[in-house]
Amino acid sequence: MGKLDGKVALIYGGTSGIGEATALLYAQEGAKVAIVGRNEERANAILDKMKHFDAEAIFVKADLSDSQSIKDSVKETVDHFGTIDILYNGAGILDNYDPIQDTDESLFDQVIQLNLKAPWLATKEVVPYMIEQGSGVIINIASQATAMVGVGGTPYMSSKYGLVGMTRQLAHELGPKGVKVNVLSPGFIDTPMTESVTDKRLEKSPLGRPGKPEEIAKTALFLASSDSDYIHGINLIQDGGWTLGGYPVD
Ligand code: NAD
Repeated sequence: MGKLDGKVALIYGGTSGIGEATALLYAQEGAKVAIVGRNEERANAILDKMKHFDAEAIFVKADLSDSQSIKDSVKETVDHFGTIDILYNGAGILDNYDPIQDTDESLFDQVIQLNLKAPWLATKEVVPYMIEQGSGVIINIASQATAMVGVGGTPYMSSKYGLVGMTRQLAHELGPKGVKVNVLSPGFIDTPMTESVTDKRLEKSPLGRPGKPEEIAKTALFLASSDSDYIHGINLIQDGGWTLGGYPVD
């Protein structure tokens, strides 16, 4: 018995990093998975891995900078699997860490589109199916940036704080309809996104190491499964204690 047997999961950002690890774990736990992204080659490699656990999985090609593409990705998933039980909004991009006076308006728009508007639109498209069936799970991936500053510029910080606010409102609106909504906020995780970010940042983190995508995926499984059914509207920060903010202990 898998923890997600028979559930349909729509996974944005599922072709790399934390989203890939989550897609694989969900499939291993019995979910039918739609991986959304732009890179078909990477997606096919992930679908191949899923064959090891006999998972039903598809790749849905979409560019989240385009609203129609987001709508189409939901429709394609429902056309294939019949419904959506779990929506995982995990795609995202960083900004340049620049101060506001050096940040282009176009970069602000791009980051907000990817990190905030895309999850909003995907949710808007998916929610009618969840309401109709009286159940569903939505997991939004924010960041430890929602508990500290200086780990992005104003576009990234605004997008991730916005995602937490949106999730809290969604929890209020959708809880009575049977839909569980939470934020999962990773700390510094070893993924393609952090390849160019120095892990000197972790000097003040008690665990002193980056997290692994698989460690975040296990929490995403917990939030998707019935094990977390009384957890609703929270921002779960999983950062190895980084945002505790203490000085290093000798
Ligand atoms: P990643 O770069 O591996 O994943 C980002 C995903 O977003 C990729 O799959 C990418 O294809 C997708 N994406 C980007 N632009 C897209 C577009 N236009 N259309 C469709 N998909 C697009 O990095 P990751 O670390 O796995 O990031 C996953 C999430 O975790 C992001 O939301 C990120 O902000 C968040 N996060 C990561 C860290 C970290 O340290 N790695 C820390 C905090 C939060």
